[in-house]
Amino acid sequence: MSVQRGATAGGEETERILTCGRMVTPHRLMASAWIAWRGETITRIGCGVPPAEPDWEAPGCTVVPGFIDTHVHGGGGGSFDDGADSAREASAYHRRRGTTTLVASLVSDQVSGLERRICELGGLVTSGELAGIHLEGPWLSHEHRGAHVDEALSSPMHDDVDRLLGAGTGVLATVTLAPELPGGLDAVRRVTEAGVRAAVGHTAATYDQTVAAVHAGVSIGTHVFNAMRPIHHREPGPAVALMERPEVFAEVVADGRHVHPAMIRQLAANPARLVLVSDAISAAGQPDGMYALGGLDVELRDGRPLIAGSCTLAGSTLTLSEAVRFCVGPVGLDLQQAVAAATATPAALLGRDDVGVLEAGRRADLVLVDAELHVGGVLVGGRWEPGMEPDPAVTVNTGLGAASGGMHGAIPARTEGN
Ligand SMILES: [Zn+2]
Repeated sequence: MSVQRGATAGGEETERILTCGRMVTPHRLMASAWIAWRGETITRIGCGVPPAEPDWEAPGCTVVPGFIDTHVHGGGGGSFDDGADSAREASAYHRRRGTTTLVASLVSDQVSGLERRICELGGLVTSGELAGIHLEGPWLSHEHRGAHVDEALSSPMHDDVDRLLGAGTGVLATVTLAPELPGGLDAVRRVTEAGVRAAVGHTAATYDQTVAAVHAGVSIGTHVFNAMRPIHHREPGPAVALMERPEVFAEVVADGRHVHPAMIRQLAANPARLVLVSDAISAAGQPDGMYALGGLDVELRDGRPLIAGSCTLAGSTLTLSEAVRFCVGPVGLDLQQAVAAATATPAALLGRDDVGVLEAGRRADLVLVDAELHVGGVLVGGRWEPGMEPDPAVTVNTGLGAASGGMHGAIPARTEGN
């Protein structure tokens, strides 16, 4: 059904109630749970008999907070590098798959090109459609550039750093850089002083250089293990330096291609800092063929996005719901831990206390998943994403399907594209 039943005729918001088989909160897995919201805000949660007749019942489903993706380039054919309309396509693709808060990542480009892109996306940040912008570059290591165009890379000159921080005032969330570059540590300090998070990534930094970067203000490791100097027993490199610091958030692309499950378990040893990111590109959810990532041609071959003519991965086609499923499956994390890595922990990374956790006072963003963790329902700010609403409870007189009965809660998995 498409009618949003959030408001009464008088315009006053009615409290809505959803019951479910299980609900994930940071401290416990609640059985036979219910959650209530009014307007866009969660009002209360509980177990057992709900305080009023539920509007929706999903006894076979688990309710988790809406996912938060802090590193994503695109999806569903849309890309954050290609202006506001394409960005909306990308964010809608991920929203339908349960990602209700999303930071748009831009690949490396000339400073003037990045200024323009920040400007194009700024409106979507101020309107709340995007949670911020992540500059992945242009201050990255040539050696570990991955899917960034070599000619776009540079060292962080003082003026360039100020230009991009100026263009991104109020909308920039994160900057990924290689701290070993000339001016790298100074850039880390300037970025953090501007209230933006500095991340180490695409880097040839040594262990000591990474420790110095953390002391200068770095608080995130960008897709740890990927596109960085590998671990060696005499030169542990950036990954070990980042993992040793309990205050540093560690991003990981948990798609079964980027990182071995055992390495994800290593990161999960510091569960309060593990952050699942998709690093998805426009090709996510699309058929095999040729796609663009910034100035690079990307070939989607057997579902793998590769820099054309090479075997180098160019981002992913992952969604966060799939990352959670991978972490519960091959990685072996428990459900709460995997969900937290895609919700509460990225919320903490972004300094957001209004999303990421199912509790009274937070935004009513939630995802319904079935026993196999496939997404079957998505609520964003108290409104069901079109096509992602569970069947209404039979006891509610909506005039729709009230006589059929018996099937409520049987939510089909409708959205897993890849
Ligand atoms: Zn990326």
